[in-house]
Amino acid sequence: MTLSHMSRRTMLKGATALGALVAAAPELFAQQAVSRSAAGPAAPLPPRREFVIRAATVLTMDPSLGDFATGDVHVRDGAIVAVALRIEAPNVQVIEGRGMICMPGIVDTHWHLWTSLFRPFVRADVNETGYFPVSNRLGQLMTPEDSYRSVMLGTAEALSAGVTTVHNWAHNVRSPDHADAELSAMRDTGIRGRFAYGPAQGMPDDQPMDHAGLARVKRDWMPGDGMLTLGISSRNIGAMSIGGATRGTLTIDMAKKDWGGARALGLPITVHTSGPSPIKLLEEAGLLGPDLQLVHPLLTTPEERAILKTRGVSYSTAPTGEARRPASAGVIQLGELLEAGVKVSLSTDHTTNYNCDPFVAMRILFALHQHRIGDKIPLTVKRLVQLATIDGAVDLGIADKCGSLTPGKRADIILVRTSDINMVPVGDPYEALVSLAQPTNVDTVIADGRILRQAGKFTALDHAKVVREAQEAATGLRSKAKWPA
Ligand SMILES: [Zn+2]
Repeated sequence: MTLSHMSRRTMLKGATALGALVAAAPELFAQQAVSRSAAGPAAPLPPRREFVIRAATVLTMDPSLGDFATGDVHVRDGAIVAVALRIEAPNVQVIEGRGMICMPGIVDTHWHLWTSLFRPFVRADVNETGYFPVSNRLGQLMTPEDSYRSVMLGTAEALSAGVTTVHNWAHNVRSPDHADAELSAMRDTGIRGRFAYGPAQGMPDDQPMDHAGLARVKRDWMPGDGMLTLGISSRNIGAMSIGGATRGTLTIDMAKKDWGGARALGLPITVHTSGPSPIKLLEEAGLLGPDLQLVHPLLTTPEERAILKTRGVSYSTAPTGEARRPASAGVIQLGELLEAGVKVSLSTDHTTNYNCDPFVAMRILFALHQHRIGDKIPLTVKRLVQLATIDGAVDLGIADKCGSLTPGKRADIILVRTSDINMVPVGDPYEALVSLAQPTNVDTVIADGRILRQAGKFTALDHAKVVREAQEAATGLRSKAKWPA
């Protein structure tokens, strides 16, 4: 997108606050427009250097390579060149891997990043200020700048916790500028991800999704440098979900239109199944396919799981939030889904009243599986690490690029320190990751060969600025909404 294109579109908005700002200070606006569009990043990302990670415990998540109690990983031009016991690569940078687990970056397959700003307002134990009422009310007041800051905050937390790919459930696309703002934030942090273009908060259920806007994003942003992909986040199907109006609800006829338009553009779909299961309805309507991801596997029947396996539909589980739901909402059916051969992946959902912690997510899945099913369906800790890495990449259709430390794939790699007090003395690395690890153990985060974090700190991203701007935006939204009244 060119700057003149962006400015023209914004000028058409007439007497909006943003329009007034453009009139008052065009050069100021021009600067912001550049940083919030496909034209270029707000600040340069670290370069893609050549390096060898030396003497780490390497978990490749590639069955043909296996694991290395002590091994090396060679990265050049953003790609994994080799993984072996010992790699001779003179004159390249060495990253010390001793005392670290080297593994693929975590792939998070469903996260409402636009709600990250709401953390000061959401309470886990007060219904009136729960996640849904707060996000519905404040979401309708968000400017593109708020969206940018919220996605920056969420994505920065994702990277801090070792997540190198995120599926951004963007169901508050209030204008083209809001879409550009969210995509700009993903691009500016250097994370890999899918942008799931959705409706806006408060949009009537009988209003079709904006396929022209979706096509515009595809044209302006894809394929770019290959880091970002595109899909849609659909409103729920059929009966109202436990969340009510926040994600909206579609009839099957409306879903045929919304989903059909996305599929005509070759784009995948994601939808929540909270509440009564819509799987049979979707099957009867011929809407299930391998380009569909469902979210929250709590209430499926054996017959429905067989249908999902046949149709190649995947399911994303977000155990930290799901475990807080009442028993009437169902149970996390991880064991049943894996037994039926359904594709499953792991997600954070949102971070308004919990943090991004993929280790805790794996821990909860393991605990609930043992609690409910135990050895009737064996579940290993290694299987959970697969769920958080390669299975997430399969779910998002990018397993050719990431999810395992396979030579030829892009270098999305994390190093997890095993010398910290909560990890020592370390034994089995999978046991350590699932039973003991926490985000503060994530030492180094590499996405597409760029070292984004090292020694537990960002190498380029201004952490303090992200926090300050998120705080300002949250405070601004609260005064706009007079929340809490
Ligand atoms: Zn969700």
